[in-house]
Amino acid sequence: MSVAGTVRDLRSGGEPLAARILEVRNLKKYFPVKTSLFGKGTEFVRAVDGINFHIDYGEILGLVGESGCGKSTTGRTVLRLLDPTEGEIIFEGQNIAHFSKRQLRTVYKNMQLVFQDPFASLNPRKKIGNAIDEVLAVHGMKDKEQRRERIRELLDMVGLNGEEDKYPHEFSGGQRQRVVIARALAVNPRLIICDEPVSALDVSIQAQIINLLINLKNRLGLSYLFISHDLRLVKYISDRVAVMYLGKIVELAPAEELFRNPAHPYSMALLSVVTVLGSEKNKKKIILEGEVPSPVSPPSGCRFRTRCRYATKQCSETEPEVKCIGDGHFVSCHLY
Ligand code: SF4
Repeated sequence: MSVAGTVRDLRSGGEPLAARILEVRNLKKYFPVKTSLFGKGTEFVRAVDGINFHIDYGEILGLVGESGCGKSTTGRTVLRLLDPTEGEIIFEGQNIAHFSKRQLRTVYKNMQLVFQDPFASLNPRKKIGNAIDEVLAVHGMKDKEQRRERIRELLDMVGLNGEEDKYPHEFSGGQRQRVVIARALAVNPRLIICDEPVSALDVSIQAQIINLLINLKNRLGLSYLFISHDLRLVKYISDRVAVMYLGKIVELAPAEELFRNPAHPYSMALLSVVTVLGSEKNKKKIILEGEVPSPVSPPSGCRFRTRCRYATKQCSETEPEVKCIGDGHFVSCHLY
């Protein structure tokens, strides 16, 4: 459930906040590719192609889809690790789509990234306390003793009390991800982009990290964009879920509603092959035929039409509009 309008900033004496922390409007990210070795022509991989969504304060929005659908590119573009081709990224009321590197420094105090491989994001030669110290110093915490106290507090928050003098290799994969989360929290962010944050971890450890993320969110009033291909996790953690296919969001709904009543044929197929707690048992699996088309030259009309068993002539001629089919339930399909 969304908590729009009810969340107060826990760090500013309970000041009420506007409902949306992030609003993404018509976001596009195209990557140029050469069409031939000697040719002059350039085509574009349309990794993200005109998507819209928002995240409320205190909300977790799940973003799901097959590998290559554009969900990670979405996360990285929202964070401005990639420059958008077009569109608006309204973060805390400001369009950061064209912010300079200097302007982005302020943004990164409030928006952070936790991604899949914690080992790759930590310097193996740096003690974890020093890694966090560096972030605090860069973001203006001058006093050394204050930083030391904050490091202890952060490590305590993620269940690594007293471990600041260890090196990354001395930790397990799950513990390393805890370190990365602590480092992301160092600057007091309001929004964290979690890009497949547990997919490199053992299943037994995944639940611990997910529960940690939920606890931190509740304790600190955080919001997450939770990107994952794992639908079980997405259902467990998310308030609402957006389903992506070939650079487009094809369905967006409250998590419970989406898993109980998927409307888009692609969502139906995706959800039919996972067993999620509380979902219908013995449901019929829908096996998707064919390959995901190339994002360089996506199909005309509806991009899913080459794999959709309900496709009609209209589907190849006209791109379906986004329609609201229920409370907060949006779908882009000619069936509605
Ligand atoms: Fe299938 Fe047509 Fe709906 Fe696309 S618009 S999902 S092809 S029925």
